Amino acid sequence: MESEALRNSIPPGRRLPFFTLAAGVIGAGAAVAVVPLVELPGTQLPLEFWLMAALATFADARPFTPPGRRQTLAVFPSVCLTFAILLAWGPGPAIAVQAVAVTVCSIRMHHAAWRAVFNVGQYTLAFAAADLVLRAAGLRPYPDELLSFGEVAAVVVAAAAWFTVKYGTVTVALRVRFGGPWWPLFRRALVWESLTYGALLLLSPVLVAAAATSPALVPLVVVPLYAVYRMARLTEEQEALARRDPLTGLANRPALVAAIADQMTVHADRAARGEPDCRFGLLLLDLDRFKNVNDALGHEVGDRVLVEVGRRLRTAVGPADLVVRLGGDEFAVLAPRLTGAAQARALAGQVAAALAEPVRLDGLPLDVSGSIGVAVYPDHGSEVATLVRCADVAMYDAKHRAAPVAVYQFESDHHSPQRLALLADLRTSLEAPGADGSDGVAMHYQPQVEVSTGEVVGVEALLRWRHPVRGAVSPADLIKVAEHTAVMRLLTLRVVDDVVEQVAKWSAAGVQVRTSINVSIRDLHTGEVAERLADQLRRYGVPPHLLQVEITEGALMADPRRVLATMAALDRLGVAISLDDFGTGYSSLQHLRRLPLAEVKVDRSFVLGMAHDPDDAAIVCSIVELAGALGLRVVAEGVEDEPTCRRLAAAGCHVAQGWFYARPMPGDELVSWLANYRPWPPAR
Ligand code: C2E
Ligand code: MG
Ligand code: MG
Repeated sequence: MESEALRNSIPPGRRLPFFTLAAGVIGAGAAVAVVPLVELPGTQLPLEFWLMAALATFADARPFTPPGRRQTLAVFPSVCLTFAILLAWGPGPAIAVQAVAVTVCSIRMHHAAWRAVFNVGQYTLAFAAADLVLRAAGLRPYPDELLSFGEVAAVVVAAAAWFTVKYGTVTVALRVRFGGPWWPLFRRALVWESLTYGALLLLSPVLVAAAATSPALVPLVVVPLYAVYRMARLTEEQEALARRDPLTGLANRPALVAAIADQMTVHADRAARGEPDCRFGLLLLDLDRFKNVNDALGHEVGDRVLVEVGRRLRTAVGPADLVVRLGGDEFAVLAPRLTGAAQARALAGQVAAALAEPVRLDGLPLDVSGSIGVAVYPDHGSEVATLVRCADVAMYDAKHRAAPVAVYQFESDHHSPQRLALLADLRTSLEAPGADGSDGVAMHYQPQVEVSTGEVVGVEALLRWRHPVRGAVSPADLIKVAEHTAVMRLLTLRVVDDVVEQVAKWSAAGVQVRTSINVSIRDLHTGEVAERLADQLRRYGVPPHLLQVEITEGALMADPRRVLATMAALDRLGVAISLDDFGTGYSSLQHLRRLPLAEVKVDRSFVLGMAHDPDDAAIVCSIVELAGALGLRVVAEGVEDEPTCRRLAAAGCHVAQGWFYARPMPGDELVSWLANYRPWPPAR
């Protein structure tokens, strides 16, 4: 929430235009006010005037200022009385009484002096406009008799003129002060404030009529005034409640969405004026393992933890930052002014530090650390939904990397519009190949070598896709996007066809190597891969032992039961199964024993580091030993240098694959490569 001090201050760059405007309003107000004030009737004013003046001053001593809004429009009940004074005694007395009411209110609310003077200027102009309408309608002097329908209509028009001038100048002033387009604010004034001020202003002619009957009736206006005040307050409170999280008292998701949209308007406007650093940051925080707290200690304890997290977040960020609870254990921080991602990351670091210390509840320390995703406007998105999605992607990225903070990176975003467009292009290529019959998809093959003899014992088929415009696309990225869509099926069938045909070609050329095909999670959920393989093997007359299927450890763990049916079908077909990327997917050792596996491939992240990292070397050695003991062949992938080869040989690893031997190459190059291949280690 913005402090009063902040509301009184004007951003440095806007002081000149704002004070020029303020001086204009005050000057015009003073000029308009001079004549009626000189003509003040003074002591001839009756009792009912003094009653109204006293009530006006009293009513504004405590105006209702809606909480939380930056560009707030407070409710000043005095206008009912001062407008009545305008009707009955003219603009001079109305302006004088309003000036006193504004002064009292400004002292009570600690407003800067310029603000009080500016407000008086606005009122003066508004009263002058209303007075013009009344004069034009022949309501000067104001009749003591009953008003005709036409005269009442004129009073309504005068009230409308008052409102338009008052809120017109408020809107212009706020816009000059804070920037942004003027129309949304004026529209908001029309929708919300017009009802409140309509009630206040149109009560005035009734009050004047009542006062003409008896001054004793004037104080009764306090009751409807109080009702209007309550109505405004309740509406605002209800609106505020709808934007608040009841548990932590923080803002909620709708409030965040509205605040982001507000910031976007303000920043776009600043950028259009050429101001530098028009950025803001969105941080999304998800607590780690919060579910465990809820499950183990109950929801009551969980709630207390969330309240404490909210408190810590508020103290960790600046006064202008908005802290939000999105629901469950998800929080957000909107940082309205930033110079860039580095500053957003620093703020996220502050937030992470605030959560580093465990929360102590009833003496029990509970870990509340979380993962924070950061997105920056406009770098990562210039629409609300995009920005929120980017922060969400970054948050999951942080979780996957077990890092406290991650800034949005396009590479981690598998569902960005660009990626989805890529996928659509792949589907088009597969379904409708180009004029030359090519779909840009090609298989490359990387040799696998028996570590002890240097003999080539197999190849792995690896996908390559050349996008018609973007060029080569990383297969790992492509698979991550395609994996959860129906395109994956098309792609895998295409790969199976290509590889079996290639194996048949090699066989015809006298080359017989076991060829491994990678399949993804989705492929294993139906039996289609096994069926297609069986068909193609039959069609080309290729013996099944020349084919092998690699499934990743992650895919196996995602749904072991469904995968098992496909594995059994492949096993019946006589096609061996290899467990890829082993060591990254937390699979149970039970699986190694129970599943029909022929081979385990140690993930390349361990192999790449094993020459200089003793931990990686220890992991590779244990996998070799364990899988070897279970009768499985062990393949090390990512072998880039000779020291790694030596270590693998010493560890007893069976097969190695990597750039040290050969990069993946097109199928027809393999035959000549094999012809020139010199085994490593050299035969003794
Ligand atoms: P993977 O199955 O683990 O494949 C091994 C990856 O290691 C390949 O990356 C290969 O080019 C790379 N590699 C081989 N030797 C070395 C080395 O010495 N050093 C390093 N740093 N890397 C090496 P690639 O071709 O980019 O493929 C990445 C991943 O994409 C594969 O990982 C596999 O999961 C997936 N993939 C590739 N082709 C297919 C396919 O046809 N179908 C499916 N479902 N997935 C595929
Ligand atoms: Mg593989
Ligand atoms: Mg692998």
